[in-house]
Amino acid sequence: MSLLVIGSVAFDAIETPFGKTDKIIGGAATYISMVSSYHTDDVNLVGVVGEDFPNEHIELLQNMGVNTDGLQIKEGEKSFFWSGRYHNDMNSRDTLVTELNVLENFDPIIPEAYQNCEYLMLGNLSPQVQHTVISRLRNRPKLVAMDTMNFWMDIALPELTETIKKIDVLIINDEEARQLSGEYSLVKASQKIMAMGPRFLVIKKGEHGALLFHENYVFSAPALPLEEVFDPTGAGDSFAGGFISYLAKTDDITFENMKRAVIYGSAMASFCVEKFGTERLVGLTHTEIENRVKAFISLSSVDISLAN
Ligand code: AMP
Repeated sequence: MSLLVIGSVAFDAIETPFGKTDKIIGGAATYISMVSSYHTDDVNLVGVVGEDFPNEHIELLQNMGVNTDGLQIKEGEKSFFWSGRYHNDMNSRDTLVTELNVLENFDPIIPEAYQNCEYLMLGNLSPQVQHTVISRLRNRPKLVAMDTMNFWMDIALPELTETIKKIDVLIINDEEARQLSGEYSLVKASQKIMAMGPRFLVIKKGEHGALLFHENYVFSAPALPLEEVFDPTGAGDSFAGGFISYLAKTDDITFENMKRAVIYGSAMASFCVEKFGTERLVGLTHTEIENRVKAFISLSSVDISLAN
C-alpha cells in the first residue's frame, strides 16, 4: 500500500559523548522515509528544503526508492537546522538550536499522484502544516499517524490539539505524553490523550521500550539491550517509519497487527542509534532486519507454568 510521509528534511548537528558532527542530513521525514523504504516501494515524501541542501542527499533518498516529487526546493532560502547535545546517559538531550528557516512559511503541496495514498505519516512538523496536509487530501487515508514534540506543545498547543482530533494514531515519547496530558502516570496520560481524538497511542520510552494503547488494551514492547548506543537522533522517527510502513505493507490496522508494527518500529530504531545520523539506515539488508525482529521476539516471549 502507498505511504505519504510529511515532516522536516533538515540539517542536523549532533553532539554525543562519543563525538560531534558538522551539518549532516537529518529531519523527521528523512528518517521515516528511509526506514519505510525497506517495507514498501511506494513511499511518497512531502517536505521543503532550501537551496543550500545538497542534491546528493536528495539522490540518496531517491536511490532508496523514495519518491521526492513532493519535496520543494526554495531558491534563496535556508534549510531547517536543528542541533542537539546528548547527556552522558544518552537518554536525555538538550536542543541547542532550532532554526525553522524554510519551515516557517511552509505550504505543503501534495502532488496529484500522491492523492490516493492509503497511509499517512505526519512526521514532526508544525501542527498547522500537519493539519493542512490532512485537509488537502481529497480522500481520507485508511490510517493517519502523527508524531510531534515538546517544541510544538510549548509554542502551538491549541493548533496541536486541533490536529490531534483528526488522527488515528499518536506516536510520542513518555516526556511528551506527560506534558500533553498533565499526568505523570502513563496509563492516566494515555486515557486523557486518547480522549483528545486518537484511537491508538504509542508512547516510546527510549531504552525502556514502547507502550501501545487502544481502548482498555495495552501492549508493552521491550527495547533491545544494545551494547553500544552511538547517537539516538532519529530513533523516534525510525520507530515511526518502521511502525507505519509495516502497517502499510501488511494493510491490516487491527490492534493485533499494530503490536507487530511496534516491534518492527523498535527494531528499526535499534539500528538507527548504532551510528551517527542516518548512516546505519542506508544499506540494511532484509536478513539483518528479520534477525533483529527475531531478537525482539525472543526478548518478549516467556514461558511460565503456574503452580496450582
Ligand atoms: P528524534 O530524535 O526522532 O526525536 O528526531 C530527530 C530529528 O527531528 C532531527 O533530525 C531533527 O532535524 C528533527 N527535528 C528537531 N526539532 C524539530 C522540530 N521542531 N520540527 C521538526 N523536526 C524537528
